[in-house]
Amino acid sequence: MKLHEYEAKEIFKKYKIPVPEGFITATEIKELDKPVVIKAQVLVGGRGKAGGILFADTVEEANEKIKELLNKEIKGEKVEKVLIEEKIPIKKEYYLGITIDRAERKPVIMFSTEGGVDIEEVAKTNPEKIIKYYVNPQSELLPYIARNILKQANIPSSEIPKVADIIYKLYKVFKDMDGMLVEINPIVITEDGRALAADAVLNVDDDAYYRHDYTKFEEYSKKEKSEFAYVQLDGDIGVIGNGAGLTLASMDIVKEYGGNPACFLDIGGGADKETVKKALKKVLEKDVKGIFINVLAGITRCDEVAKGIVEVFKEHPNIKFAVRMMGTNEDEGRRILTENGIPFEYSMEDAAKKLMKIINA
Ligand code: GDP
Ligand code: MN
Repeated sequence: MKLHEYEAKEIFKKYKIPVPEGFITATEIKELDKPVVIKAQVLVGGRGKAGGILFADTVEEANEKIKELLNKEIKGEKVEKVLIEEKIPIKKEYYLGITIDRAERKPVIMFSTEGGVDIEEVAKTNPEKIIKYYVNPQSELLPYIARNILKQANIPSSEIPKVADIIYKLYKVFKDMDGMLVEINPIVITEDGRALAADAVLNVDDDAYYRHDYTKFEEYSKKEKSEFAYVQLDGDIGVIGNGAGLTLASMDIVKEYGGNPACFLDIGGGADKETVKKALKKVLEKDVKGIFINVLAGITRCDEVAKGIVEVFKEHPNIKFAVRMMGTNEDEGRRILTENGIPFEYSMEDAAKKLMKIINA
C-alpha cells in the first residue's frame, strides 16, 4: 500500500525528520502569510512535470491554484486533496531512497547528489552518481555508516551531520513501518543551510498488515471499498477472472488465440451477482470487441456469476461473450447461461477459441 505524501510526512515528523511546515486541505483557504507550494496528493511520481506542483504568493493566488488542482487529474489520478507548504528557498536537491534489494536480500540505501529529478534517469545515464549501501538486516544501521555514504557522495562536510541524521532516521522509518520503498526526493539544502525532506514516498508491505494499524491511511479505506482489481490495457478483449493467477492465465490464453486484452479484471473470491455486474460495467467503460470470463468457483458460485452476466447481457445484447466456468453450482450456472444464449465452454482454450471465432465471424 502506498501512503500519500502528507501521510508519510506525518510519520517523518514523529521520527524528527525535518519537513517543511504545512497542512492538508480539500477546500480553499482563508489566509496566507507567506509564499507557498501547493502539492497535489496523488500516488504518482513526477507530479512537478505533470503540473501537480504549483506556487502562490497570496491567498487569492493560492485559492486559484487549489481550485485548479482539485479539478484536475494528474496522470489519470483525480486530485482529492492538496498539501500546502511554506515555499522553501532551495539551494540543492539530493536523492535518498531505501528499498529491499531482492538479489542481495538486504535493505539498500541509495543516495545521490542528483536529486529532484527522475532517479531512474540518473541510474541509466550516470549510475556512478548513485551511492548504494547494503544494510545487514541483522544489525543496526550505525550513524557513522550514514556519514560514510555521504563522504562517498562527496557532499560538503558542513552538510554531512544534518543529512546523515535524515538517513539514520529514515532507515528507522523503513524498518518500523515494514517499508517496501521509502524515498525523499528531494532532500533539499536550503539557502540558509538547513536540510529538509521536501517530498516523501512511503510504500508499506501489505503482508505486514497484522503488525500495524494501517486503517488510518487513505488508501486503506479505498482498498476496502473496491471489490475488484482492475488494470486497463491497450487491447480490445475484456478479460475477467477470479483470482489474479487465473486472470493472468486468461490473458495469456486470449493472446494465444490472437486476441489482445483490454484489461485485467480480477473479481476476487466470493463475488456475487452485483459485483459481477459492476465488473462487467467497468470493462464496458472501454470499447471492447468481446469479453472473456474465466471462473473457477470455490466460495464464488457459478449461478451468481451467471446471473450477473445475464443481466448485463440483457442491457447490452450486442456484447460478445465467452464464458468458462467450473466449480460450485456449475450446473445451475451453465443452465442460466445457455438458456440466455451465452456461449459456455468447459475449457479456457475452447472458450478463447470460441470468442475469437464469434468476434471474427
Ligand atoms: P514530484 O515531482 O512528484 O517528485 O514532487 P516534488 O515534491 O518532489 O516536487 C518537484 C519539484 O518541485 C522539486 O524537485 C523542487 O524542485 C520543486 N519544489 C517543490 N517544493 C518546493 C519548494 O518548497 N520550493 C521550491 N523552490 N521548489 C520546490
Ligand atoms: Mn519528488
